Amino acid sequence: MPKNNEFLIEEMNAIQVKKNINQNTVAILVFGACENHGNHMPFGADFIFPYELAKQVANKKENIIVFPPMPYGVSLHHDQFQMTMSINPDTLVNVISDLLVSVITNNINRILIINGHDGNISPIEIASRLIKNKYPYVTIACLESWWELIGKLEPSLFNVWGGLGHGGEAETSAMLAVRSDLVNIGLAPENVIPKLPNHVRIYWKFNELTETGATGSPKNASVQKGESIMMSLENVLLSFIDEMNLKDWKYGIFLK
Ligand SMILES: [Zn+2]
Repeated sequence: MPKNNEFLIEEMNAIQVKKNINQNTVAILVFGACENHGNHMPFGADFIFPYELAKQVANKKENIIVFPPMPYGVSLHHDQFQMTMSINPDTLVNVISDLLVSVITNNINRILIINGHDGNISPIEIASRLIKNKYPYVTIACLESWWELIGKLEPSLFNVWGGLGHGGEAETSAMLAVRSDLVNIGLAPENVIPKLPNHVRIYWKFNELTETGATGSPKNASVQKGESIMMSLENVLLSFIDEMNLKDWKYGIFLK
């Protein structure tokens, strides 16, 4: 197994890079945001947890490298809250595309994106589709929204709303598991479940849903739930990487 964080590119020197990176290396890119997550959670929640997840995965498997997390995302829908740092969707599409091309130019064709923020889902998809069209031999995969997936994977883990919510039960639990010092649960709101139609999406602004910036049920969060979330997502990603490695990162009709 990798030693001394020898999978974090920001901590590696050129000799380590040369030794550790080859055509079978899996590159993990993390995209987050810097925005209000309610009174009880840190602004960096959307990259702090996914970056920890990336590190846990890389620590348990050979031949993975993790790039520094992108700490800003598309947060236009949060800009009514103080100190929202937002990147325009076009800009983020370009940033993601440029980073993907940089990885590919270094002969890495196995790319896994871990996203921590809802506003990044569309830019990640657009950039990935554009780059896939230019470099068809590359595999780009993405864990798009762990906060929705976890409610489906572990429905019995959560008390309210499948754990959903911005700074809600799942997000707050996840943060408690990795950086409990950054959570002040005493400042968390009681349940805030926005009244929205079921089947048709409204492109709301977040200040239309909550006064504090938090939704869901953070008071139901716990370290234990956060550890279960981490373990469950780790397993998803580790078995994805195992499965892809076995098949040389081929899929569909290219599988013999
Ligand atoms: Zn977010």
